[in-house]
Amino acid sequence: MSAGDDPAPLGFGNRFTSHMVVARWTTEKGWGPAGLTGHRPLELPPTAMALHYGQAIFEGLKAYAAADGTLALFRPWFNAERFARSAARLAMPELPPQVFVAACETLARADADEVPRGQGQSLYLRPFMIAVEPNLGVRPSREYLFAVVASPVDHFFAGGGEAIDVWCPDGLIRAAPGGTGAAKCAGNYAGSLATKAEALANGCQEVLWLDALEHRWIEELGAMNFFCAVRTPDGETQLVTPALSDTILAGNIRDSLLRLAAGLGHRVTERPVALAELTADDSRVTEAFACGTAASVVPIGVIRTPRGRTLVGDGRPGKLTAALRDELAAVQYGRQHDAHGWMHPVPGVSLAPSP
Ligand SMILES: *Cc1c(COP(=O)(O)O)cnc(C)c1O
Repeated sequence: MSAGDDPAPLGFGNRFTSHMVVARWTTEKGWGPAGLTGHRPLELPPTAMALHYGQAIFEGLKAYAAADGTLALFRPWFNAERFARSAARLAMPELPPQVFVAACETLARADADEVPRGQGQSLYLRPFMIAVEPNLGVRPSREYLFAVVASPVDHFFAGGGEAIDVWCPDGLIRAAPGGTGAAKCAGNYAGSLATKAEALANGCQEVLWLDALEHRWIEELGAMNFFCAVRTPDGETQLVTPALSDTILAGNIRDSLLRLAAGLGHRVTERPVALAELTADDSRVTEAFACGTAASVVPIGVIRTPRGRTLVGDGRPGKLTAALRDELAAVQYGRQHDAHGWMHPVPGVSLAPSP
């Protein structure tokens, strides 16, 4: 497809490729081989423990086709190591990171012909692990299933670079100190969905999550990390994001943007950000955005609470936001030198070069 053509919309996570990779673990035998099969329904006992007590974790990473015909995963080791930490938090067995990465490579290679190549498109890989032992006792399962499936996707927000409205609820929280907020587990998402519905009912696209204890500090946006640009009294623009904690998920894109911004010469600071810092009349916050694998970089235009509405900056996508999004996409789609060694070419794949 040549640049400028409008690709047919794929949406996000609605369609799946032909194959999947599956491996099983038991206490007696540990991990069995990770095998490639057709993408098809799983057979589970109705008492599979994941269905009752929620031992379920997942990852999300993308494979990008470059114009020269290479297919590359973006920082898969980051996801592999996070998957191991999520497993530990949910008392699940660790999948060795090299097995995780090899499984992603296997699936991306098998379905390389199904990687979409239009503007902003990619192959989203969804590795996950669930407890499958048939048992209703409340304890860690003794059997698990690991699988990777894949979905050809557009950017998560179809509108592209438009700024979104975000909803900051009273009272409801995503994560509390000592809880599972830093693990990528299914239950964190389940607990967020009623609030997401409340956001949509209030004309917003995502939830701005505040901390559990004081309900004052910004933590995340939906299932994305939060950033803002702050103009200092001496006229410098700093990039600011909340520091990682056990209530903030350590995003791959968060980490990547911190490094890209520093490389572009911006001051980057990890520190607490109060909601009031954005909503004050004399706010020095000029831009805000959220970031994650699915959506890349999403500008935040308006913050709504049950008490009112505040524009962030002039309400439009900011310059630094756009620069970071473009810089990241240039690396991911192979249009720019990969100075950090983030792109992980899938061995044995060469796609047709695109014009
Ligand atoms: C997955 C996720 C993110 C983003 O992580 P990336 O690795 O950048 O995709 C941020 N917050 C939460 C809660 C998440 O689940």
